[in-house]
Amino acid sequence: TDLSRIRNFSIVAHIDHGKSTLADRLIQLTGTVAERDMQEQILDAMDIERERGITIKANTVRIEYPAQDGETYILNLIDTPGHVDFAYEVSRSMQAVEGSLLVVDATQGVEAQTLANVYQAIDADHEIVPVLNKIDLPAAEPDRVKEQIEDVIGIDAQDAIEISAKTGLGIPDVLEAIVTRLPAPKGDRDAPLKAMLVDSYYDPYLGVVVLIRVIDGVVKKGDRVRMMKTGGTYQIDKLGVFRPKMQDIPELGPGEIGFLTASIKQVRDTRVGDTITHEKKQCQTALPGFKPSQPVVFCGLFPVDTNDFEDLRDAIEKLALNDASFSSEMETSAALGFGFRCGFLGLLHLEVIRDRLEREYDIDLITTAPSVIYHLHMKDGEVVELHNPADMPDQTLIDHVEEPRIKATILVPDEYLGDVLTLCHDRRGEQLDLTYAGTRAMVVYDLPLNEVVFDFYDRLKSVTKGYASFDYQMIGYRADNLVKMQILVNEEPVDALSIMVHRDRAEMRGRAMCEKLKELIPRHMFKIPIQAAIGGRVIARETIAALRKDVTAKCYGGDATRKKKLLEKQKAGKKKMRQFGKVEIPQSAFINALKMD
Ligand code: GDP
Ligand code: MG
Repeated sequence: TDLSRIRNFSIVAHIDHGKSTLADRLIQLTGTVAERDMQEQILDAMDIERERGITIKANTVRIEYPAQDGETYILNLIDTPGHVDFAYEVSRSMQAVEGSLLVVDATQGVEAQTLANVYQAIDADHEIVPVLNKIDLPAAEPDRVKEQIEDVIGIDAQDAIEISAKTGLGIPDVLEAIVTRLPAPKGDRDAPLKAMLVDSYYDPYLGVVVLIRVIDGVVKKGDRVRMMKTGGTYQIDKLGVFRPKMQDIPELGPGEIGFLTASIKQVRDTRVGDTITHEKKQCQTALPGFKPSQPVVFCGLFPVDTNDFEDLRDAIEKLALNDASFSSEMETSAALGFGFRCGFLGLLHLEVIRDRLEREYDIDLITTAPSVIYHLHMKDGEVVELHNPADMPDQTLIDHVEEPRIKATILVPDEYLGDVLTLCHDRRGEQLDLTYAGTRAMVVYDLPLNEVVFDFYDRLKSVTKGYASFDYQMIGYRADNLVKMQILVNEEPVDALSIMVHRDRAEMRGRAMCEKLKELIPRHMFKIPIQAAIGGRVIARETIAALRKDVTAKCYGGDATRKKKLLEKQKAGKKKMRQFGKVEIPQSAFINALKMD
């Protein structure tokens, strides 16, 4: 295909601003999908994830568009979920296209994820076409939002296209703008093959499906190719494009986007950002920038019922097959028995995996507190990564501890600004910037990731009645006064409740956790002390009073069926508990003990 007839683009937007609906309209208007096959949100990555049971980071569709100049163009849309957890994958897929449509809801304006995503597009040198959506709504304020785009993002918004993805208003203008305002790709057909690996997923029938963007050269079915970074070599079984259903194609040339399959067994063998070339005639230099995604948040997953352990192992192995960014290793806990320590790219990623284990594999799980990776600088000069507070070595062997920090960007209406500042301050944040765009404030904070992984986002939503938007990126490690706090139930440490805390906040956190546990652990026949301790020193304490009578006592020993019913009820209740020493701790206590409110 003639390069000048190709346009490659992505759509960037904050969640709910209409990205999927716009993609639907573009597909529909160009007749890419027959009207009777059209369904809502045809490209939606989340839907496909649900259907195929996998984690897709990028998704593409090829559209043919007869433009006003009389020529037919090939438009390739790469859709990315745009969530902060997958920032690295998103930035790679941005490299695979030359332009972006920036969709902003004209009733809402610029939000935190609009900013995060548009900056990635700017970093990738994209030409950007601003699109104001939901113009059909009476609350739409296109002029104000144009001004805001110019103020906050700093790009020209005078020629922003006003549309309604819902009614279809303005969609033809968007198609024309893609052709006239976005640049055509560049590339050399005669050069050795150079293609970027944009994403991959596991398909039970086809094996690993690899999404590629050809930079130079031509790739054909049957070719033997080599992945330059991982070193794997493969023969291409199938080559095609998504329309959005898979359609075979004999070759893909420069500027084109499509997929290949090559009997690749697992997603782990394909690395996002790798360079694909011919085995025989290799290109000189690989594409720059390549890093495997590293898990940043860890937590323990244990079956509520110890008999489910083997099922949990199988389920985790199946999920890992499809998702190379998810890691797991076996863990044993004195309190919880056998389970897995799992690593995730972020909190959303953690939630997605945990939900799928519970829903699709039907395993009741105890999730321990999410933790970040600490760097322990030992007195002997060694640096140790700590993934689990339970593994913390003796404090006297440690010189200092470093923790990961993030740069958080929060957009919030004026009236809630004070609450947001208080929240960030309480979480040991340092303000980096505060600016205004109309009636909204944009605050930038340097925060410890450990203060954010747990319930920061929920708190932010609740103090701002849902009006704040939030995004973050990792900025590096910094030393602070961090210690391990243990919780002792009935004089014995419960490792699954251990957390790392800042020394200055330890008493407050310790007291809060003991109070919470006092509510969460039911009374027993004996009294139960609950203590928080650092090293051997107790810093907070609560006591659960003993039960005086057993639950069947009031039945006078007479009514046998009533007594039996009560005992059955008790047994059912016990299933959701874990025995620890002499004490039974409910499943919910492990996560709820940490909530701060
Ligand atoms: P995404 O999260 O950016 O993919 O957003 P969606 O495309 O899923 O849209 C979010 C919601 O906004 C859905 O309920 C859509 O029906 C609605 N929506 C999208 N575009 C328009 C529009 O132009 N006008 C109106 N009134 N609603 C829209
Ligand atoms: Mg969507």
